[in-house]
Amino acid sequence: MSSNLENLYRQVIMDHYKNPRNKGLVTDTNYLTSRLNNPSCGDDLTVQVLIENDMIIDVKHEGTGCSICCSSASVMSENLKGKTLEEVRKISQNFYDMLMGSEEFNEDMDMGDAIAYVGVKNFPARIKCATLSYKAIEKLLNENTK
Ligand code: ZN
Repeated sequence: MSSNLENLYRQVIMDHYKNPRNKGLVTDTNYLTSRLNNPSCGDDLTVQVLIENDMIIDVKHEGTGCSICCSSASVMSENLKGKTLEEVRKISQNFYDMLMGSEEFNEDMDMGDAIAYVGVKNFPARIKCATLSYKAIEKLLNENTK
């Protein structure tokens, strides 16, 4: 990866870290809530989603952690809003595949700002930071949908 691209990706990540989208939880009981932590780094994240007709209408997140984890939750909230549950599962899987350096990774899928985390695959200890918000959504969907 060129250093220009690395710089751009770093800027995207820092922007989401400093100006997180959809941050802050709501008290609306129609939202489903899930909390996960990543003991190896100290990340602690809570996500909320509002689902209607198998589509994610809204996403919220709140927590403490490293820049990778917190910024990734912001990117995730933008990426998954307005997506069907099936699309959410596909996007999440593609994000995992990208970070694991898997051959299954589909470069043609629109990942939004999540593509900025491609370099994290070179830092295996940080993969859990980047995926924590997606894992929290996955847990929430597994517990609440068929
Ligand atoms: Zn972390």
